[in-house]
Amino acid sequence: MYHPDVRVFEVFDADGRSLALYYGDYFQRANKSGGAWDDSFVDQSALLGTKPVVVNVLNLPRPAAGHPALLSFDDVKGLFHEFGHALHGMFSNIRYPTLGGTPRDWVEMPSQFNEHWALEPAVFAHYARHYQTGEPIPLALVEKIRKTKTFNEGYATTEYLAAALLDLAWHTLPVDAPQAQVDAFEKSALQRFHVDVPQVPPRYRTTYFSHIWDGGYSAGYYAYLWSEVLDDDAYYWFKEHGGMTRANGQRFREMILSREGTANVDELYRAFRGRDPIVQPLLQERGLVTAPLAETK
Ligand SMILES: [Zn+2]
Repeated sequence: MYHPDVRVFEVFDADGRSLALYYGDYFQRANKSGGAWDDSFVDQSALLGTKPVVVNVLNLPRPAAGHPALLSFDDVKGLFHEFGHALHGMFSNIRYPTLGGTPRDWVEMPSQFNEHWALEPAVFAHYARHYQTGEPIPLALVEKIRKTKTFNEGYATTEYLAAALLDLAWHTLPVDAPQAQVDAFEKSALQRFHVDVPQVPPRYRTTYFSHIWDGGYSAGYYAYLWSEVLDDDAYYWFKEHGGMTRANGQRFREMILSREGTANVDELYRAFRGRDPIVQPLLQERGLVTAPLAETK
């Protein structure tokens, strides 16, 4: 249904060929669900002759009449995140539609990967300007934004891992396991994985961990962090190979974004990276190692 908030862009490839339609529905409305997400109206398929039609939905604060929308950095990251999902859909270049969809622990890889560019100096300088004078944001403020990225990451990582491991503990019980007493099982599982830290309880406890019971995440709650291992590691490939260049972006598009559904994603990733993913880039991005890493090539 038409709504004046929704903007539609036809996206063209470098050679002028029409590639996709992109719908952007950015602002809060009274009757709109909260949060931000990406969805696809039409998936690309050469067999069916369909081109992608994707939508990014956000809930940005609506500007006052006659004023531009001014975004917090969290909102900006949300935009980059959802646009990463959109790029994944729009660059799809496959013949057969996939039946299984995207593996859960890969879904957030292109979106979280795209968030890295929000603070890329050339990109940042392009959009982060004073809305009246056009002046760029002072470097000292940019540095502050960078520093906030690692705030409380020890806590955040531990509470997340505890919940993810608890999920795996429940879902790897054999079918004939005796009925467990919930609190005792939870305690022993956290101890077994060395995350029984009283000061850092798991993000969700068994009794209200709705993701893993009726939320469809059974044994898959780890996926958010695994996607982050992949997106940080992929981002470090860029850092090791000259950064944000057109050639590097094209390579990412051709080897990762456009090919999903033609091979297992771990094979695609290995071909792109030249090896399996490693955790060190994530540790560095989260500020959990103090010294810069040696080259991880
Ligand atoms: Zn996402």
